[in-house]
This record gives sequence, structure tokens and C-alpha cells, in this order.
Amino acid sequence: MLLKRFSHVYIEEGAESFPLTKRILERLSNATRVSITNYKDVFARSGQNFQLQKQSPKLILACKKDNHIYKGSMASQDFGYRNFYYNSLLLNCVYNCDYCYLQGMYPSGNMVVFVNEEDFYRATRIAIRDRLFPEEPLYLCISYDTDLLAYESVVPYTSRFIEFTRANKDLVIEIRTKSANWRALETIEPSDRCILAWTLSPPEVASQYEKLTPSPSLRIQAIKQCLDRGWPVRLCFDPVLKIQNWEGVYRAFFDDVFKHLPAERIRDVSLGVFRMNADYFKRMKKQRTDSDILYYPFEKSQSFVSYPTEERIEIVETLKAKLMDYLPAENIETWT
Ligand code: SF4
Repeated sequence: MLLKRFSHVYIEEGAESFPLTKRILERLSNATRVSITNYKDVFARSGQNFQLQKQSPKLILACKKDNHIYKGSMASQDFGYRNFYYNSLLLNCVYNCDYCYLQGMYPSGNMVVFVNEEDFYRATRIAIRDRLFPEEPLYLCISYDTDLLAYESVVPYTSRFIEFTRANKDLVIEIRTKSANWRALETIEPSDRCILAWTLSPPEVASQYEKLTPSPSLRIQAIKQCLDRGWPVRLCFDPVLKIQNWEGVYRAFFDDVFKHLPAERIRDVSLGVFRMNADYFKRMKKQRTDSDILYYPFEKSQSFVSYPTEERIEIVETLKAKLMDYLPAENIETWT
């Protein structure tokens, strides 16, 4: 399905010779190829319609010239790691969740793959060497602005970063996903320093607001497979959406999740309510009129949009208490 999505591949000047480009082109042999000078000419041009492009996204292969690693953001959870970083190996995601900040962050619904992988490894090695707290590892999230595992058959960054992490003892990575693609990891030896982080939402949320993603039950099956193989797994109940009867819906969902997954083998859980950079939210709302979730009377504080403070506290405290039926409080990281 993924391969069929790309009718066109744009190739930036200079990106043609990278082994990753050659591999991707082999797998997309039916796609029309177009040479371009700079990926931003296609990806960043003004007047694009994100949602329209999402219906038939194009793939852009390019080299990222700088910023191969970023400091972690305030809106993200660091799980106690003080050397917290993330990177952007791909821009955009195969899915198109109604609440996704990428709609407001990027001018285009097309997909960019950066093929100069060695530059990302080099920047990571430098960040490890120069980390502020040398007694702690560098914690790197490699799947924030995309869903890396969903692309693994075409762009094998997940497996390659796992091997890179194995070879760098002061590195811990998080791979966040909604994919059910556990087979991509089937032949890879698990590593304690590679955390597979699954975002899970109740079926009531997933069916309405995460329409292109694998169902929660398929994700749970994938998680089970990975736990059985010995991977460290994080569950992310994030973003929690304040839908009708949210408390009953999320409580029932947690019971269902831990009926299928052994809670004692879950490394940790992240719990957070919907929140978004205010500028991204504004831009995304202009483009997307088909989703009621964006029309809640959110509150703007600092540069973020989220539920009003008392509602945020109520949601997080209520759901954390429920999660504590299954996990100790210290294994539950919250964002209020
Ligand atoms: S899976 Fe994550 S990154 Fe992808 S569209 Fe949904 S929210 Fe955005």
C-alpha cells in the first residue's frame, strides 16, 4: 500500500548518488522520477494545500544540510533524561491524524526522506561526546515528525538506527509509532537501549481521528510480539482527547490494553493531553474544517494551545490514578 502511494519521486541535485536513494528508487521502480535543484523548491513553496496533497503524496529525496540533531522541546516528555534530543530523518507521516501538529508545521503534505544518513550519525556522535551530563546517556527520539517504523520496508532507518545505537553505548533511542509493522523488527536482536514507543488511543478515538492508522487491536498485537521477543516497550496514551464520556472510554481502554499486555513487562507509560504550538494550531485550523476536535474551546497559555488548566489537571490525575491499577506511579510520565 505504501509503495503505491507515491506516483512521483522528486530527487534533489546531489542526492542521487547516496546508497539510500538507490535503494528507495529500486523499491519505487514504477514511480515517475523528477530532478529538482533544492527540495525546498517543492516542499516549502507557498500556497500548497496540505490536505489535498495528502490524498496523493509525492516523495522527495534530499540531503539535509544542517540541524541533524535538535535539543528536545518543552512540549515533549524527556522521561528523566537530561541529555534529551531528537532528529528529523523524514518530514511528514504516512498517516494523517486529525490532531497532528505536522499539518500546521509543514507547508506541504508531501514526504521528504533525507538520504545523507552518515551526517545524522556524525551529528549524534558529536552530541554524545559533548553532552552536558556525561554521567548520563544521550536520549534521542528518532521518530517525532513522522512514523519511521511504518516506512521501514522502503526506508530502513529504524533498523539502521537500532544498529547504530547498539554500537554507541552512551546512546538511548526512542522509536515512536502507531504502526503494526512488528515484522520489520522480527530478525533484529532487541536492545535495552532502543525503546519501542507505541501510541495507543481507544477505538472510539482511533476510528474517528486516526483513520489511516492500524486499529488499536492490531497495534496491541504488534506490541505483544515485540514484548515476547524482549524489546523494551513504552506505551503512549498521548494525546488524550476530551471526547464525550472520556473518563469511561479511557478507563475501559486501559483495562482492555492490560488484559492483553503484561503490565509488569511494560517499561513505562506516557500520559498527556492534547497540546500544540499555537502557530501550528492556527495554521492547521485554517486548512482543516472537517474535524470537530479542532473546534473545542481550547486555552492558549505561553505559546501552546490545550484544554483549560483545570480540565488538563482533572484528565491527567483521573487517568493516572486508573493507570496505577497496573503500573507504579514512577513508571508513568505525565504532561499536564
Ligand atoms: S501517526 Fe503521529 S506523526 Fe503520524 S499523522 Fe498521526 S500524529 Fe502525526
